[in-house]
Amino acid sequence: MRKQIAAANWKMNCTYQQGEQLLDDILSANIALKEHQQTIFAVPFPYLIMAKSETENENNYFVAAQNCYNKKSGAYTGEVSVEMLQSIGIPFVVLGHSERREYFQESNKMLAEKVDLSLQYDITPIFCCGEPLNIREAGTQNSFVEVQLKESLFHLSEKDIKRVVIAYEPIWAIGTGKTASSEQAQEMHAHLRSVLAKQYGAAVADEISILYGGSVKANNAKELFSQPDVDGGLVGGASLNAAEFTTIISSLK
Ligand code: PEP
Repeated sequence: MRKQIAAANWKMNCTYQQGEQLLDDILSANIALKEHQQTIFAVPFPYLIMAKSETENENNYFVAAQNCYNKKSGAYTGEVSVEMLQSIGIPFVVLGHSERREYFQESNKMLAEKVDLSLQYDITPIFCCGEPLNIREAGTQNSFVEVQLKESLFHLSEKDIKRVVIAYEPIWAIGTGKTASSEQAQEMHAHLRSVLAKQYGAAVADEISILYGGSVKANNAKELFSQPDVDGGLVGGASLNAAEFTTIISSLK
């Protein structure tokens, strides 16, 4: 079975102390993850080492960075490289979140460079894609998301694409409380998997985890995750509440 993942995206929230408490509260729920299940905490850069040490002895609990730069190293004040992430043992990085695309002008091409660097340094990219409201209203979401995949991922070899986790996050559902219905999520996830299958073959597409993101909460996670092509979620707001997020973790297939 491909990996089923509950990924928390803290964004720019929590002080160090609040973050530490939140992790303690979630981990003290002692949810035992099965072999095919993972929980990942995407925390702000200054908390990566703390979060790593908190999760170190927990089975299948991991830490992710929320971003990295698209250059190896050098005179890029304020940026963080994948090599830096690797040097502190961070196994995942979220790339192409819609907030990064919108506020920091991250293009599909720039994201392709970030994906390449991450894989080169053995860090698994959690690659985000998803359409804005006007595209959904025009009914062209399938081709919109397909272009995001093609331009940022489809240069990868068969071996490398299998190392990527995809997160489908319709922008109109992020932080809005407006969740895609489980049918809408399944429809898009099945489409993404068919696009992957066309490029890499069905066996490869079948191995790639596709997470849903957009107002996942304790009360809708189970239904969303029960869809055959939805392999868990990337969770913003609800990941900041221990009771909400533990229920979300428990909703994994
Ligand atoms: C996100 O940050 O990726 C996200 C999906 O946020 P929320 O769950 O708050 O909609």
